[in-house]
Amino acid sequence: MNIYGLTLEEIEELFLSLGSKKFHAMQLFSWLYEKRVESFDEMSDIKKDIISKLKESYSIDRLKIVDVQEDIDVCKYLFELSDHEHIEAVLMKHDYGNSICVSSQVGCNMGCKFCESGRRKKVRNLETYEMVLQILMIEKLLGERISHVVVMGIGEPFDNYDNLIKFFKIINHPKGLAIGARHITVSTCGLVPKILEFSDFPLQINLAISLHAPNNEIRDKIMPINKAYPLEELIPALKTYLNKTNRRLTFEYIMLDGINDSEECALELAKLVKDINCYINLIPYNETNNIEFKRTKTVQIMRFYDILKKNRVSVTIRREFGGKIDAACGQLRSKKEDL
Ligand code: SAH
Repeated sequence: MNIYGLTLEEIEELFLSLGSKKFHAMQLFSWLYEKRVESFDEMSDIKKDIISKLKESYSIDRLKIVDVQEDIDVCKYLFELSDHEHIEAVLMKHDYGNSICVSSQVGCNMGCKFCESGRRKKVRNLETYEMVLQILMIEKLLGERISHVVVMGIGEPFDNYDNLIKFFKIINHPKGLAIGARHITVSTCGLVPKILEFSDFPLQINLAISLHAPNNEIRDKIMPINKAYPLEELIPALKTYLNKTNRRLTFEYIMLDGINDSEECALELAKLVKDINCYINLIPYNETNNIEFKRTKTVQIMRFYDILKKNRVSVTIRREFGGKIDAACGQLRSKKEDL
């Protein structure tokens, strides 16, 4: 087990179980996330016998960064995990701060037809520490703080729910990575039971839904998850989430040429979200060599945008990052492991 996977509460329990005092947990947390030491031996205010017990059960190893690809305001990091699997994280430099797109699984089982990441089936969930370390290690390499986190890399985060929740607790904790909940966003393709569970999670983390279609007919064709949780189940679950949390949702909508980008689609979409407190993020599709979908032409994206606006839907068009270095949305798929 790796120490970076423990929440503060879990470290408190650990100290109690080692016959020590709960308050030492805060010291350990501070060594990890404030002083950022890389060995247990440097934790000078924790007793030697406790340190050796910690060492027996926990490693403090980091991941290996095996490749870094840089562009002007974006950077992609390839990590090697202890079982030699690879994952990616992307750093984006905005005028409001640095944001990181983290991965939540090795591969993905959701099978969205347009998505490169899903071409490799899920191998396993990422452990909590493997998510935390994506941020911690990039901060170190960069020498700057990360202010925003989006869980939109490889994987379906709600298919790795328990580890995800622990990850949020660690990175949000003021003595952990201290990233404000409102600066954290998780994106799901629509796992209804987990959306409902998430509506009871106390941190005010942003929720984004990969919608990508205004009706079941189109959604069924591009997102297999829609067969399990069609819109008549997804939409009420989102309303429950909104009622409970009083928050605002983001809908992601990839513009796919000839598939979901017609004017009728725009009207139908406006109707679908009419009484939902949300905004829609239109995403220009990033074409990949292996998938036949084409990106909608910019004029048509603008037309779609205008229709939504006219129908009083809040809408933005996503700024594109990282196209040159294959770090764009849906392109995270390490060439190292190309099948
Ligand atoms: N599994 C989660 C999170 C990962 S994907 C989810 O489905 O939301 C993050 C976003 O990138 C999703 O909205 C996904 O649909 C989108 N995406 C996937 N492939 C893309 C591509 N080629 N171009 C643009 N966006 C893409």
